[in-house]
Amino acid sequence: MNDWLKPLQDGLIEGRVLTKNADLYSYSFDASFGEYLPEAVVQVKNKQEVVHVIRLANQYKVPVYPRGAGTCLSGGPLPVHGGIVLDLSKLPAKIDVSPGDLTVTVSPSVRTQDINIEAEKRGLMYAPDPSSAHVATIGGNLAENSGGPRGLKYGVTKDHVLGLEIVTPEGELIRTGGQTIKNVTGYDLTKLIVGSEGTLAVIVEATLKLMPKPPAVKTMMVSFHKVRTAGEAISRTLTSGVLPSKMEFMDQACVRAVEQFQPIGLPVDAAAIILIELDGPEEALRIEQEKVEAIMEEMGAKEVIIPESDEEAAKLWHARKQVSPAIAKIKPTKVSEDATVPRSKIPDFMDRLQTIKEKYDLEVVAFGHAGDGNLHPNILCDQRDPEEMKRAEKAVEEMFEAAIELGGTLSGEHGIGTMKAPFMEMELGDAGVDMMRRIKRAWDPHNILNPGKIFAEKGQKLVLRNE
Ligand SMILES: Cc1cc2nc3c(=O)[nH]c(=O)nc-3n(C[C@H](O)[C@H](O)[C@H](O)COP(=O)(O)OP(=O)(O)OC[C@H]3O[C@@H](n4cnc5c(N)ncnc54)[C@H](O)[C@@H]3O)c2cc1C
Repeated sequence: MNDWLKPLQDGLIEGRVLTKNADLYSYSFDASFGEYLPEAVVQVKNKQEVVHVIRLANQYKVPVYPRGAGTCLSGGPLPVHGGIVLDLSKLPAKIDVSPGDLTVTVSPSVRTQDINIEAEKRGLMYAPDPSSAHVATIGGNLAENSGGPRGLKYGVTKDHVLGLEIVTPEGELIRTGGQTIKNVTGYDLTKLIVGSEGTLAVIVEATLKLMPKPPAVKTMMVSFHKVRTAGEAISRTLTSGVLPSKMEFMDQACVRAVEQFQPIGLPVDAAAIILIELDGPEEALRIEQEKVEAIMEEMGAKEVIIPESDEEAAKLWHARKQVSPAIAKIKPTKVSEDATVPRSKIPDFMDRLQTIKEKYDLEVVAFGHAGDGNLHPNILCDQRDPEEMKRAEKAVEEMFEAAIELGGTLSGEHGIGTMKAPFMEMELGDAGVDMMRRIKRAWDPHNILNPGKIFAEKGQKLVLRNE
């Protein structure tokens, strides 16, 4: 038995620490690749229990892997070095809306969608809307700096965080930021922690910004004969003076997969479609809609469809949410990437994806938040076929190279985790990565929080094959 297990159990109510194999297996994966068994799982129920676990882990130098709902697409919560999985999803759900301040204070275990449901009861909105909002926790969103379709107009999670309560790797409970809209006291630790992927602190509470819910929204679906034209139409719209709240792209393979999965009458013969949402006052939307329609016509769009009711519009957005589960049916393995490019480079990135797809003879489909340059190329393959997986590994590397050559980044929202760690130097250079490593060492001298993430370990390469 590990020397740390007894003191860990002694400081917690009985039943909080799981060590049976069946329990450990259910914490050994996320929504990405790889399976790693932890040595123990702790289901914490309050902040003091988090402090106890972290202090003990720091004392015994045991790795701790924070975990929300486990929907991460980059390997973030995987216990790659064993140790303890810290399950934060069982913390009591707290959603405390302060309508006068336009803020909400939440515990990390709440589902992002539930924050919005509470905000909407007061005519307010929490803007970040990842497609996984109905299952993922806000703790995971904060750690990954998640985004969603509305990121185009309203930004990502970090743009909506005022303050955090965190447990440091040495077991101190501290606050960063606060409740105010403006706060320039000292270094901005809030921004440092948001997006740190559970490597610098455990988030145990957060105060988030809310905003007035836009009075009206308008949905449009535009289909295209050519993928490149869809990319050009996105760029043209974004430089026209109209800023849609959402601009989502689906290529033909995605449209067809959704129609097979849950048919709603999407145009399966189009090369690509864009789903657009405009939000704001009704009168402004009429003018903006006409402007976008004119742009689409000028660009030679195949068809512009304006849903006649809210229900019809909701169906289209539901179809967009079905892309991930629908394409997962095409082949057994889905390698999901989220390289992001400057918006003007979207058509070029689409061309590069086509070249990569042909070069490696792989099934590559693309969808995503194209309005902010964040496409999700997905390679559909079969992990039991090592030769195909080898081609997939090369294709992923070339996708990253393409994004970076076009002035983009490895990840727009899914994080680095284990999957993209080997490519960090490609984007940031040795000195850039070294500066980040130094921050990690200063915060976490014993490297107990989520080790094996963001920073590649010696000789680490992207491996998608079963080994
Ligand atoms: C179908 C599907 C659709 C998705 N769509 C989107 C999308 O539109 N946009 C997007 O950005 N992502 C998306 N994702 C990815 C994923 O849902 C997000 O990254 C989400 O934020 C993860 O939340 P989680 O609760 O599942 O966290 P987990 O997967 O459990 O953990 C994610 C990371 O956060 C850390 N962590 C979790 N809680 C805490 C905490 N309290 N303190 C410190 N660290 C913590 C973990 O260590 C890990 O590194 C999608 C995933 C799926 C499967």
